[in-house]
Amino acid sequence: MKLSWRVILLWAIPILVIGFFFWQGTFTTSSTNMGQNTANTRMTYGRFLDYIEAGRVTSVDLYDNGRTAIVEAIDLELEDRVQRLRVDLPGNTADLVPRLREANINLDSHPPRNDGAIWGILGNLLFPLLLIGGLFFLFRRSSNVPGGPGQAMSFGKSRARFMMEAKTGIMFDDVAGIEEAKEELQEVVTFLKKPERFTAVGARIPKGVLLIGPPGTGKTLLAKAIAGEAGVPFFSISGSEFVEMFVGVGASRVRDLFKKAKENAPCIIFIDEIDAVGRQRGAGIGGGNDEREQTLNQLLTEMDGFEGNTGIIVIAATNRVDVLDSALLRPGRFDRQIIVDPPDIKGRLEILEVHARNKKLSSEISLDTIARRTPGFTGADLANLLNEAAILTARRRKEAITMAEIDAAVDRVIAGMEGTPLVDSKSKRLIAYHELGHALVGTLLKAHDPVQKVTLIPRGQAQGLTWFTPSEDQTLISRAQLLARISGALGGRAAEDVIFGDAEVTTGAGNDLQQVTGMARQMVTRFGMSDLGPLSLETQQSEVFLGRDWTMRSDYSEEIATRIDAQVRSIVDHCYEEAKRLVRENRTLVDRLVELLIEKETIDGEEFRQIVSEYAEVPDKEQLVPQF
Ligand code: ADP
Ligand code: MG
Ligand code: ZN
Repeated sequence: MKLSWRVILLWAIPILVIGFFFWQGTFTTSSTNMGQNTANTRMTYGRFLDYIEAGRVTSVDLYDNGRTAIVEAIDLELEDRVQRLRVDLPGNTADLVPRLREANINLDSHPPRNDGAIWGILGNLLFPLLLIGGLFFLFRRSSNVPGGPGQAMSFGKSRARFMMEAKTGIMFDDVAGIEEAKEELQEVVTFLKKPERFTAVGARIPKGVLLIGPPGTGKTLLAKAIAGEAGVPFFSISGSEFVEMFVGVGASRVRDLFKKAKENAPCIIFIDEIDAVGRQRGAGIGGGNDEREQTLNQLLTEMDGFEGNTGIIVIAATNRVDVLDSALLRPGRFDRQIIVDPPDIKGRLEILEVHARNKKLSSEISLDTIARRTPGFTGADLANLLNEAAILTARRRKEAITMAEIDAAVDRVIAGMEGTPLVDSKSKRLIAYHELGHALVGTLLKAHDPVQKVTLIPRGQAQGLTWFTPSEDQTLISRAQLLARISGALGGRAAEDVIFGDAEVTTGAGNDLQQVTGMARQMVTRFGMSDLGPLSLETQQSEVFLGRDWTMRSDYSEEIATRIDAQVRSIVDHCYEEAKRLVRENRTLVDRLVELLIEKETIDGEEFRQIVSEYAEVPDKEQLVPQF
């Protein structure tokens, strides 16, 4: 936790209050200081008089202006012992002194100690003084800064959270596979390097560029490359670092950041994860978030506050442009929006080439093959993939990375760490049937992606795995393909059911069923692929997001909901029957494959198809999938 003045004061005041009472306590007792002459046992006034009567009192010391007396008296039981007792005297004891004299008792009177009283008075004064002083201090600081109590203290100042890189050392050459984005940003470099060219003809240089894309697609890298190409400093901060516990901290950080940037212009300001501050204002559960709104307002103000030709360009990155406050997207702020998508196959090849530059690859390696095997991988995934392969190569003490390491790394990036295979047992057999169910159904259905390999080597959560070679960049998927995928995903459960019977099916199909239900439901509600007709009944489901509309709205009646459920069920039932039929009709084949799989632990796609073709007709999938 960061210690700020306000925190210190917040703690200091209660401590002072408690300390004050302690102090007061100490001094009030010391003002009636009884020195050594204290007595713990008390005696009533009446008993004291009795003692005097009985002649047992030897001395009396008066304190506290005669309100307290410490009495020495002879003990009743033990005659030779002297007791010291404390007596609280009633107000009117005028006749006491003559009586004591009469009885010849030692009498002494002690005045109150004056120094104690002085301390007491000082103590009384000190506390209010401290309090007033503290408040004065607070007010003085807040009135120093224009803009009201929100900026009471310049917390942000001392702890600048942004990073400054004078030279990023990254060039456009280091960014691959996102050509459109690069082309657009090329212009930003020119804005920074030759602003005159634009201002001469009266063009206003854009102030902000928003990079939109999923994590790992190279947004940060692009921003750094712009700074690198233009040879200007790179200021960066993450949106989450703006959001602080105290209202006003984020806003002051924004101010500091822009101040520093102006001193160093021309430069790039990069705001990562801008959605953390830039969400729609005044929305979400429990109303807005004051701190975030202030920070956002400050950001908007700062962006309006400089002219386009001061040489500052603000680049922000987000993967959730849908949640951004519309004020951020207005002209004059982030008016340029550039989409950074995950790369396609050509892009992946280029990215692999970039990251292979500093790696030792054996000559057999075809980056093209890797690019084909990795649809959906982002730039960061690919960089990670090559790095994993390199680590593996070093571990195996090889000279250069070979295809074996690349394959292992791909499997690992997709499905997690490899585990140790089970010993031959009933459950291993069951897993073998389950996986072969997937593989066989996938192979026999024409619209299904081809099997790449089946394995019983566990990885991540899975005890066995069937890998399919995905068709390239699936932007359009047909109804037949979806149905085939559902059947394939049900193939595991179907095999368990057909071979071992209804009572023996296992939890191993849990994940499969989840996927199946999801696919079937989307076919009905989003893609209009059921008897309900071409209707979109649900928008893409995303997690409940608290920045905008968080109430889920369904656009259909109860009746339609029932019909959706019935349609989903009928799709799944149909596919399950299909999968079971394929397993049942090829029982001999399945048994033979299981023996082979248990023996070898992994069967690759070519061999698998070879064996299947001896028993059944394997549909040709060449036109669906690029071959390699
Ligand atoms: P983002 O900011 O979009 O989440 P990054 O820019 O931080 O992603 O990317 C992380 C790393 O992934 C980069 O440092 C780089 O090594 C690699 N990378 C991502 N995209 C690309 C790309 N298009 N070209 C080359 N490398 C990339
Ligand atoms: Mg990033
Ligand atoms: Zn399965």
